[in-house]
Amino acid sequence: MNHENSRELYDRALSVLPGGVNSSVRASMPYPFFVEDGDGAHVVDADGNRYLDYVMGYGPLLYGHDLPDPVEAAIQSHASAGPMYGAPTEVEVDLAEFVTRHVPSVEMLRFVNSGTEATVSAVRLARAYTGRDKIVVMQGGYHGAQESTLVEGGPDGARPSSPGIPESFAEHTIPVPFNDTDTIADVFAEHGDDIAAVLTEPMLGNMGVVMPVDGFHESLRDLCDEYGSLLIFDEVITGFRVGGLGCAQSEFGITPDLTTLGKIVGGGFPVGAVGGRAEIVEHLTPGGDVFQSGTFSGHPVTMAAGLETLRYAAENDVYDHVNALGEQLRAGITDILEERAPEYTVVGTGSIFKTIFTREGRGGEGRCEAGCRQREDCPNYDACPKTGADVAAAETNRWERVFWQEMKDRGIFLTANQFEAQFVSYAHTEADVQRTLDAYQDAL
Ligand SMILES: *Cc1c(COP(=O)(O)O)cnc(C)c1O
Repeated sequence: MNHENSRELYDRALSVLPGGVNSSVRASMPYPFFVEDGDGAHVVDADGNRYLDYVMGYGPLLYGHDLPDPVEAAIQSHASAGPMYGAPTEVEVDLAEFVTRHVPSVEMLRFVNSGTEATVSAVRLARAYTGRDKIVVMQGGYHGAQESTLVEGGPDGARPSSPGIPESFAEHTIPVPFNDTDTIADVFAEHGDDIAAVLTEPMLGNMGVVMPVDGFHESLRDLCDEYGSLLIFDEVITGFRVGGLGCAQSEFGITPDLTTLGKIVGGGFPVGAVGGRAEIVEHLTPGGDVFQSGTFSGHPVTMAAGLETLRYAAENDVYDHVNALGEQLRAGITDILEERAPEYTVVGTGSIFKTIFTREGRGGEGRCEAGCRQREDCPNYDACPKTGADVAAAETNRWERVFWQEMKDRGIFLTANQFEAQFVSYAHTEADVQRTLDAYQDAL
């Protein structure tokens, strides 16, 4: 594979963009390929190489790179009417109505421009609503580039995970291990009256994929109710992917107080949203006094793209298709691992899949067949990741430096590190899945 043009572009980019990119995960080693064109489930790079794409924009692209006709038409028509106005438009109301009809916890919502903005607004709203400062977050959870959640440490003390964030921000954040109900109950026993919210992804979606163990969400819900704290589900990555139009909360049967959305809800354009019970969300300005505002929020082109994306999914077999292919991929990779690398763990659900290069798995009869389900009677239960730390302890270098490259050379574009999830789109086919499994078989 020739990468001359990408290398040259990256060379130019390094002079004018920090790290040569505009989002850190894009700087794959030794240099990223630059995309020239998207084509269904494929991307074509600046040197004409064609890859089967499972990165899918890191989550927003439910249809791949060719949008269904009604989505494309709505985008064109709103773009040519004039990009935006600073006055409300009907399409914002249409999308808000659609979301409130389908997502169990959302009665009212505010659109913003990114998942980061959504979680910032949700935390501010929760703090204002409860009159408390502390938030509980999961180690290995990701809520965007926001000051309150870029922390490391544990229940006994958190510090900023990036320079440039004052220590005092981290003082109000309590990181706890995902799936560890006992530790979280202890944290509530000690700090419960100061905890504004538990902010969690329904499954860790940016640190491998880690599913909740049985009863985990129920205990979070109970603890929040007992102590008067809010439960916030960050569904930026799971929203309108896991659990279809009802999102992961409908799949898990848990109703959070607030939900953050992003990615798919903007149909491929920059977006975020914070929603929940009207009685809480109404506290945002201008109706309430919790400041929230944005020049581009509710951008008509984004709203149109999001609305038609979701409508199309409501009327077609989109989730059946992507979930079935996701299942085939996870099951196929599980079979391959059985023979070639039983220590590894297949994770994911619905249209999400990933292989974690865990070190201790044994494989064998009774192993979860199409992605780890945290089944206590699975022979790999003790070895499969339950927390962010478990994922971090995997062979991350092997993924990044060997496996990812091997797959790329075979024309399969996976996420470049061990932590980011991979996605099947409506444009993928069974033949694509077979080709991908062949490549896994070769490369593992
Ligand atoms: C992607 C993501 C974010 C951040 O969204 P941006 O649009 O990148 O700011 C926040 N939370 C979760 C769970 C995400 O997956």
